[in-house]
Amino acid sequence: MGFPYIQIMKRLTRLILLIIPFLLCTSWGFFAHKRINRLAIFVLPDEMLSFYKRNHRYLTDHAVDADKRRYADPYEAPRHYIDVENYEPHIDSIPEKWKDAVTKYGEQHLRQHGTVPWQIERVYFDLVKAFKDHDSVRILKHSADLGHYIGDAHVPLHTSSNHDGQLTGQSGLHAFWESRLPELLANQYQLLNNKALYIENPLKEAWKIVQRSHLAVDTVIRFEAALNRIFPPDQKYSYAKRGNIVIKQHSDAYTRAYDEMMHGMVEKRMSAAILSVASYWYSAWIDAGQPELRQFRSIRISADEKKQLNLIEKKYRQGKIIGREN
Ligand SMILES: [Zn+2]
Repeated sequence: MGFPYIQIMKRLTRLILLIIPFLLCTSWGFFAHKRINRLAIFVLPDEMLSFYKRNHRYLTDHAVDADKRRYADPYEAPRHYIDVENYEPHIDSIPEKWKDAVTKYGEQHLRQHGTVPWQIERVYFDLVKAFKDHDSVRILKHSADLGHYIGDAHVPLHTSSNHDGQLTGQSGLHAFWESRLPELLANQYQLLNNKALYIENPLKEAWKIVQRSHLAVDTVIRFEAALNRIFPPDQKYSYAKRGNIVIKQHSDAYTRAYDEMMHGMVEKRMSAAILSVASYWYSAWIDAGQPELRQFRSIRISADEKKQLNLIEKKYRQGKIIGREN
């Protein structure tokens, strides 16, 4: 009698352990995206601060809508990354402008290997227009989305074809770097530094962000491989309870050791993302002619928009990304 029960339990445990890391895999992790959008508010100039502060809950909650859309919209997934190596051996050789890149590679190639710098530019101009139209609903929607894509562009593994360490036998590295590290350590990070700055050229700036992220890919991969070689294997993972389920995750000690090896790279990229998000919001407001924000009301979502958001939420809960994971 005992034998099949044990077998079933073993299988169930194995299944849960397989499923959980998959469910937790998101870009920057929901935790970090929300924190980036929320903290970006505090880097804004006074003229923008009160409107954004009044709507901090929306900007935080909707920081991850873009990730959820990947479950409903087949075009969404590639907007979050760019696999630089699948374009050129050197990032500088990729045409800066969307039109030139389409001419060189064809749109299909772009949709397959990622479009994050062009997506940042696109949403930036959507935000400028929303400011010009004094449309507070769209201002907040595009601000939340822009914050998301800028956040993604700051993650080194969002700029590489080895996006999960899968090409070097390090599968799971993506969520480890961008979810586990910030979730364990963000409270110790020094994330707020400068005030928002004006960005002259949003597309060029997006490429600069991608370039800096891409430069760090080698360190992200090599250092984890090195740590894995020297760390006691039985101490690499730990088990934690989330709600009613037990999940397998990298241990605190392993996570801290990786963070130290990288000299606080996650902290630096997260901090840079916060400043960058605020700077894009600020620049869009300037480019729109600095509309007076005090008269703008807090957000009221239309019935249509609510329906759309509910549909995305439902698809997201069903748990199937259209396209690739990270
Ligand atoms: Zn994303």
